Amino acid sequence: MSSSFDPNTLHTDLFIDGAWQKAASGATFPVENPATHEIIAHVADGGPEEASAAIEAAGRAQAEWGKSTPRQRADILRRAFELVIANTDRLAAIMTAEMGKPLAEAKGEVAYGAEMLRWFSEEAVRIGGDHATSVDGNTRIMITKEPVGPCVLVTPWNFPLAMGARKIAPAVAAGCTMVFKPAELTPLTSLALVDIFKQAGLPDGVLNVVTTSSASSVVGTWTSSGIARKISFTGSTEVGKILLRQAADNVMRSSMELGGNAPFIVLADADIEKAVEGALKAKMRNMGEACTAANRFFVHRSVVEEFSEKFAKKISELRVGNGAVEGTEVGPLIEQKGLDKVESLVADAVAKGARVLTGGSRPEGPGYFYTPTVLTDVPLTAELMSTEIFGPVAAITAFDSEDEVLRLANDTEWGLVGYVFTENMDKALRFSAELEVGMVGLNTGLVSNPAAPFGGVKQSGLGREGGKIGIEEFLETKYTAIAA
Ligand code: ADP
Repeated sequence: MSSSFDPNTLHTDLFIDGAWQKAASGATFPVENPATHEIIAHVADGGPEEASAAIEAAGRAQAEWGKSTPRQRADILRRAFELVIANTDRLAAIMTAEMGKPLAEAKGEVAYGAEMLRWFSEEAVRIGGDHATSVDGNTRIMITKEPVGPCVLVTPWNFPLAMGARKIAPAVAAGCTMVFKPAELTPLTSLALVDIFKQAGLPDGVLNVVTTSSASSVVGTWTSSGIARKISFTGSTEVGKILLRQAADNVMRSSMELGGNAPFIVLADADIEKAVEGALKAKMRNMGEACTAANRFFVHRSVVEEFSEKFAKKISELRVGNGAVEGTEVGPLIEQKGLDKVESLVADAVAKGARVLTGGSRPEGPGYFYTPTVLTDVPLTAELMSTEIFGPVAAITAFDSEDEVLRLANDTEWGLVGYVFTENMDKALRFSAELEVGMVGLNTGLVSNPAAPFGGVKQSGLGREGGKIGIEEFLETKYTAIAA
């Protein structure tokens, strides 16, 4: 059975100041289905001209939108949540067609993205402030929150709906206007989401979208405009650094969700069944194309054989194929570049002494597929130890002592998430405290949740998305001194 993807219902134009429009040049770029290589749509290819129009619209809309009431903003988010849920099948089908993930996972992402909208609809009416007294008692201090102002949102292709929802929702809740550039590989889901916001009653100019094949010129127009006050980016550390430099020129607030190199640690006393289940989630969700994906498995030598065998068996049973086909558990990678990278990382590890327990090759036929793979005896010198694999490849290395594994786990410039499996509370808390990461999964392979502050330390980023503090990223603090 196949999904109900309908190319006739797609939005493919730019959305500026409340109106759908083509690029002035008439240019478009193609969107490919990574499972079949079929071109599923041609999307408007915006340039600096459209980028300028978009940021100017956001600038004009800010004053009035900033004065909208919390309840108005909450109601729009709530309606958008309901519309996303009502459109689950259609949105999931678009996502699977442009990105490749299995339909069941795409539906899970729709639920997650929708929950972000509901969460921030509830937060919009809870923006508070504070009050204090000066130390000499002569002044009352009133602390209020205001929207940061027009925001630049830039998202990656791996979670086409959730990454946009995670930025748009708190920005709407806080009263910020936006210019949004989704990834060029997966623009269709974002355009569908923007249409939902229009239906939900978001005023013209509040959310503007420019799809483009030239990310640097569009985003560069925004960061140098002098209108944008904030940039929220999810993507590679490399591009994050470029955007931080651009943000510095106009002293823009910056939120950065960048790469990861997550350790997945199985201690000697772990419940192995739980660890295998957690490993499957942490590695195979989204074909391993997640910044939270377990990148390095460190397993205590006393249990490494049992863990590796059970894990490899489960991995070898996964059904690989077109995500639109019911029952598929692992879809294709997003593009040839990703596939080439995974192939070369596996070849490098094997050349350095790693053993292939399952997988280790790509299947015949079209699509950017790679067979789910488990490698063991992976040496620390293998390139995949210090590179985000972004594919369905698990690399297992044995360790002997807890001090050793903590040192190895922290021996990376990244610090997004770490996973620890143990039945011992003292050890669990020690690892939770000593891992240099923004998030820890204790006996779980999944940390993303709208109620949780998502984000990393070190070169994995700045700021948090979601949770109670998620809205703070889009709020400025003002203080008024009042003579007592
Ligand atoms: P990934 O490796 O996941 O594709 P990237 O960091 O390359 O991550 O891309 C994430 C987002 O950043 C995408 O929307 C992409 O178009 C955009 N992007 C890439 N390069 C630049 C750039 N130089 N300036 C602004 N945005 C960029």
